[in-house]
Amino acid sequence: MKRILITGGAGFIGSHLCEKLLNDGNDVICLDNFFTGSKDNIRHLIGNKNFELVRHDITKEYFAEVDEIYNLACPASPVAYQYNPIKTIKTCVMGTLNMLGLAKRCKARILQASTSEIYGNPSIHPQQESYWGNVNPIGIRSCYDEGKRCAETLMMDYHRQNNVDTRIIRIFNTYGPNMDINDGRVVSNFIVQALQNKDITIYGDGSQTRSFCYVSDLIDGMVKMMNNISFIGPVNLGNPSERTILDFAKLIIELTNSKSKIVFKPLPQDDPVKRKPDISLAKEKLGWKPNVDIKEGLSKTIEYFDAKLKEVK
Ligand code: NAD
Ligand code: UDP
Repeated sequence: MKRILITGGAGFIGSHLCEKLLNDGNDVICLDNFFTGSKDNIRHLIGNKNFELVRHDITKEYFAEVDEIYNLACPASPVAYQYNPIKTIKTCVMGTLNMLGLAKRCKARILQASTSEIYGNPSIHPQQESYWGNVNPIGIRSCYDEGKRCAETLMMDYHRQNNVDTRIIRIFNTYGPNMDINDGRVVSNFIVQALQNKDITIYGDGSQTRSFCYVSDLIDGMVKMMNNISFIGPVNLGNPSERTILDFAKLIIELTNSKSKIVFKPLPQDDPVKRKPDISLAKEKLGWKPNVDIKEGLSKTIEYFDAKLKEVK
């Protein structure tokens, strides 16, 4: 039995990871400051003898004896990470430093949840890990993009200088149950709007693209990466099936049988024009590829939000 620390464990991805690692027979410490996460996401795990919930902020030191650390703590939605940008960069930099210090002391393996955002507004398409990115260092997304880039630098320097056993994954847009209803990301916004027959808000003309991965596929890749003996990454994890945001809005309307109309709002500054992962490296090194079809994944997500909206009423 391994003792595993999951920072950001009460968030969307973290809560699925807590469940998976507990089901695999591990002892799990879920650490969260509940900024964007919720106890609702992990309430069903409280009481499990192998599960421990800790309210803590990773910008402060944390001491425990652990074998593995999944460092997920960080708001991921642009609305959430821009709410307090200085806190976002502190979480990325000071938080990752604290977790690397913990990994070094415990000789634990540490996996950093990095992001496709480190590629910025990419000039190479699809994005390969060898691409260094095109990031605005002074824009409104920089607190997250540059914060995550610095976290990758810290991971590599602790690896080279202190032999810390590091892993880096670059997550592309992931969706599924346990996303927050007010999260502000496109999947939750469109589904919640469609279920309420409210206007679907497209930012810009909807020609920008994204590639959406269902959460169970991502979790599978994440755990494979942590368990890989020698490959430290970085590795892209995402679904290469790319679509425009306009087509995505139409798909949500179709799947929810909604009467919603599409409306167009201003495009936020530095919104990437296109995004699609090249997953050749994940296939080669991890034997991983996503399997869940978009309609199947969205149906499960719609069911989740439908139930949540009924709870709120
Ligand atoms: P989320 O906002 O649902 O989860 C983040 C969790 O971290 C929340 O529970 C939040 O309360 C917690 N947190 C934030 N700051 C903290 C701090 N200082 N100390 C302790 N806890 C803190 O987001 P998510 O989608 O589950 O993302 C999880 C991780 O994956 C993030 O690091 C994010 O950058 C990365 N990621 C996600 C996506 C995606 O599409 N979901 C894409 C790329 C990268
Ligand atoms: N978007 C949109 N309407 C919304 C929310 C988002 O058109 O209500 C767009 C956003 O401008 C971006 C894409 O959808 O082009 C994905 O946005 P999200 O916030 O989910 O994540 P990002 O990939 O930009 O980090």
